[in-house]
Amino acid sequence: MPILVMKFGGTSVANIDRISRASKRVALEVANGYDVIVVVSAMSGKTNELVGWVNETSPLYDAREYDAVTSSGENVTAGLMALRLQEMDIPARSWQGWQVPVQTTSAHANARIDAIPTDNIMAKFAQGMKVAVVAGFQGVSAEGRITTLGRGGSDTTAVAFAAAFGAERCDIYTDVDGVYTTDPRIVRRARKLDRIAFEEMLELASLGAKVLQTRSVELAMRFGVKLRVLSSFDEPSDNAGTLVCAEEDIMESNVVAGVAYSRDEAKMTLISVADRPGIAAAIFGPLADAGVNVDMIVQNISEEGRTDMTFSCPVDQVMRAQKAMEDAKAAGTINFHDLVADEGVAKVSIVGIGMRSHAGVAAKMFAVLRDEGVNIKVITTSEIKISVLIDRKYMELAVQALHDAFGLEKAG
Ligand code: ADP
Ligand code: ASP
Ligand code: MG
Repeated sequence: MPILVMKFGGTSVANIDRISRASKRVALEVANGYDVIVVVSAMSGKTNELVGWVNETSPLYDAREYDAVTSSGENVTAGLMALRLQEMDIPARSWQGWQVPVQTTSAHANARIDAIPTDNIMAKFAQGMKVAVVAGFQGVSAEGRITTLGRGGSDTTAVAFAAAFGAERCDIYTDVDGVYTTDPRIVRRARKLDRIAFEEMLELASLGAKVLQTRSVELAMRFGVKLRVLSSFDEPSDNAGTLVCAEEDIMESNVVAGVAYSRDEAKMTLISVADRPGIAAAIFGPLADAGVNVDMIVQNISEEGRTDMTFSCPVDQVMRAQKAMEDAKAAGTINFHDLVADEGVAKVSIVGIGMRSHAGVAAKMFAVLRDEGVNIKVITTSEIKISVLIDRKYMELAVQALHDAFGLEKAG
């Protein structure tokens, strides 16, 4: 039997009624002749609630216990979905990550999948089971501890299962009907893309478009998984949604394919650090060890052997970053006058493969922001993206203005 992977995100399993609707979709694919692996998220809002409880209990928590708590939301939906399918006379059972087992690294709260042995689930398919309902987001480390794959990680679970089982396709069912030129909740005129290149989706995801977790796109690209994003609310149709595919499979596209944003960023500046060989390693080593995801970095011009070092990180990691820097200062490995945290910034980015061959895209972006009176605090670029850090209060204005200026509401 061919295998299909169907992933249902939080809103698609938000209550029993939604779980029933999703189960009907699954039943259709079973009737189409597939053995189905369903990957489910926790009910929407559940993981946030669990994370909140962890933070309330222990702000600088032990990540192993964070995983023990936050992985639990998916256990509930996996069991409920299997029960619902059984009620429909479809042979189904649930699988938690450790039962498969989804083997991961020990990087708790941000683990990567090492391997997914297929024998347990394949043996059940051979015995007549039609649907394996897998709890997304979770796995087990070599030490036997429960791990999670980072926020939005059920997408990655789904793609990894599709790769491991050689699935015909991986369908990601969510609350929008595909990938848009920007978040349709922010820009009303955002346009749904029929296709998007892996590279562009990878950048959009890593720059904040949470419709797919970055790592899921990486895996799909590496293993050639046919990946589709579609709505669990629309009527089924063969060419629904957005296909994430190779660049060669896209006929025409705009220079800029999309605009992404990341709302909750912080800008940290170490004032007056010694400008000497090894200073960057002395700063960013401890930050990495503390689990701080440093993004943009700027080193200012030095004066009399001292300089300021600025970096950005997610706003909920500011406390960790501060502690890592204070500890390094106390240990004598770095010295700085002050550490200033600006917790009111956001990152806005434009992404497009067309930038490789078009000059002047950055200049245009900066002019658009100037015309809106938005001050740029930090800039970074790569071959196919330009990102700026700006005051959070201007984020939506900037996304909207860039979407208009680059003509994204029209197909290229
Ligand atoms: P799920 O719970 O199904 O995993 P998510 O909330 O993680 O859903 O992702 C879907 C959301 O991603 C949409 O509701 C939308 O607000 C947001 N989003 C951000 N950027 C985009 C984009 N470019 N295209 C589509 N959705 C986007
Ligand atoms: N429930 C997890 C989260 O909210 C994983 C997911 O939904 O993909 O991050
Ligand atoms: Mg998601």
